[in-house]
Amino acid sequence: MKSPSLLNGEVLPTDDHTVYNIVEIFHSVQGEGYRSGIPHVFVRFGVCNLRCEWCDTNFDEYEQKTAAEIMDAVSEFACKNIIFTGGEPMLNDLWPLARLLKRQGYHLSVESNGTVAIPDGLLDWICISPKDQVYPNVSIKQRQGDELKCVYVGQPLSMYDDLKDGFTHLFLQPCYDEAASVEENGRGFSLTEAIVKEHPEWRLSLQTHKWMGIL
Ligand code: SF4
Repeated sequence: MKSPSLLNGEVLPTDDHTVYNIVEIFHSVQGEGYRSGIPHVFVRFGVCNLRCEWCDTNFDEYEQKTAAEIMDAVSEFACKNIIFTGGEPMLNDLWPLARLLKRQGYHLSVESNGTVAIPDGLLDWICISPKDQVYPNVSIKQRQGDELKCVYVGQPLSMYDDLKDGFTHLFLQPCYDEAASVEENGRGFSLTEAIVKEHPEWRLSLQTHKWMGIL
């Protein structure tokens, strides 16, 4: 599902001063999912409402930055694609920052755990990565988007039967543990490869940036 932006280039006087909790801002290549291979500026927000055991982000350490400071940071890079990631970016009111970025012609994507509904028109690309394989009682509020990307640890795919209809692209991704051995990670890859072969409406997503040794 394409998410047409409703932003029309107008900003509010208070937008510049809106404060966000930011872990880091960096320029890299998206390594996973449908937009894999496309350079993006990653804006990583602090704070998450979940605590997944495989999480590779220290989202408890962040600095407060204004939207104007974030604009300055992203403008350092010759790149018009932004990914809001985290932590859980949708715990923030992203409208002020999105208004400023859209006025400058940025394409805005989000990677979210889906536990917060995303306002229509806020973003250009919505990737939902639900964690109900480890948090079965967490309800997924954002049930539409461009891609559904699930970390596969052997859970039954039937748990996504209702959810998957709201998404254009479906991905299963093995859990890559940098501390694990090649053999241990290989078992996860084999498991995911096998389930994708059995359920070809899902595609395999690999965290290629980790293999490349980049952020
Ligand atoms: S939802 Fe994402 S950011 Fe939050 S703990 Fe899980 S993996 Fe980490």
